[in-house]
Amino acid sequence: MIEWLLPPVVLVALLAGWFAGRGALRREQNKPVRLSADYYRGLNYLLNEKPDQALDVFLRLVEVDHETVETHITLGKLFRKRGEIEKAIRVHQNLIARPTLSPSDRSLALLELGQDYLAAGVLDRAEGLFQQVSVSGNRQVEAMKGLLNIYVQEQEWSTAIDIASELNRLTKDDYSHQVAHFYCEQAREAINNQQLEKARQWLQRAQQVDGFSLRVNYMRAQLEQELGHYSQALGFYVRAVELDTRFAVDLLPEMEYCLEQGDTRRMRVHLDALFTRLRRDGVYVQPLTRKIREEEGLQAAKHYLENILEKQPSLEAFLDWLSLFPLAVESKLVSEQVQKFAAAQQPYHCEQCGYNSRRLQWHCPSCSSWGTIVPTPR
Ligand SMILES: [Zn+2]
Repeated sequence: MIEWLLPPVVLVALLAGWFAGRGALRREQNKPVRLSADYYRGLNYLLNEKPDQALDVFLRLVEVDHETVETHITLGKLFRKRGEIEKAIRVHQNLIARPTLSPSDRSLALLELGQDYLAAGVLDRAEGLFQQVSVSGNRQVEAMKGLLNIYVQEQEWSTAIDIASELNRLTKDDYSHQVAHFYCEQAREAINNQQLEKARQWLQRAQQVDGFSLRVNYMRAQLEQELGHYSQALGFYVRAVELDTRFAVDLLPEMEYCLEQGDTRRMRVHLDALFTRLRRDGVYVQPLTRKIREEEGLQAAKHYLENILEKQPSLEAFLDWLSLFPLAVESKLVSEQVQKFAAAQQPYHCEQCGYNSRRLQWHCPSCSSWGTIVPTPR
């Protein structure tokens, strides 16, 4: 059997909550708080790492009020964290059935029950509970955050946009970044269904919500490229790289492809300006080495690469540097080894949680953040 380990932080939270409750009640009534002997017995079991006994006692408690509700919630959370969802549900359902509970505490218990069902993957039950709380007038924002989580999981982007926009209005947090991603998701679905004009409209909406979204420019560029509008595509690619130069490594080959396709001399000027900026910022991209070598010679290209290698380790820059000495036998051997290392590397990572990925994803599967997966220096 797995040992029940009460994390120290939870223990401190339990005791702090209990003392705070006691203090508040004392001040209010100017007399010692009267909590039942059973409650102390339950608390004692909890502190002695006997949660199942604590559960029995708490489920049978005659009185549950604002002072003791936190302890029930903590017990439920612990069961949920441990994967014992059924027990967490029992704790919360028992709380909700209490007629003495204040409206705010009832909403809290309903939200926790919603989290239990969410953890169990029963999304429709969780959705019903969060909806109930969202119209109750208590803890509305928390309920809406729960709903948003569900609509993202169910990929119901239109509803997710409504909820996130409402949260933007109700809270200090900025949800526009997420809303733009939701519009992009709608655009992605439209592209999959060959509804390119509709996709363009969704992307324009996304751009209105978040003008600095890398993804919007990235997707608009791909869409215009698909439609053969190479000059427009180039414009969006340039803007995307300006927003985050780390994406240059992915986007420059696409940009060069667009340039080759037609009369885009005007765009060449923008691309050259972008190259100047990348060179100044010490960003490595292979086409830039080629350009420097063609226009300024071998020494300038060497200097560019050595400057990058000094600041930021990059296997691809190192390979490029080796390729400047093609006649040396050693450089061929080293190059082969480095290529093996480079191939084994995961090309993307999440800035938020460190998750490594073989492909670019806009929604991190590990931490659920939006737009935090970026190219790893290669
Ligand atoms: Zn992540």
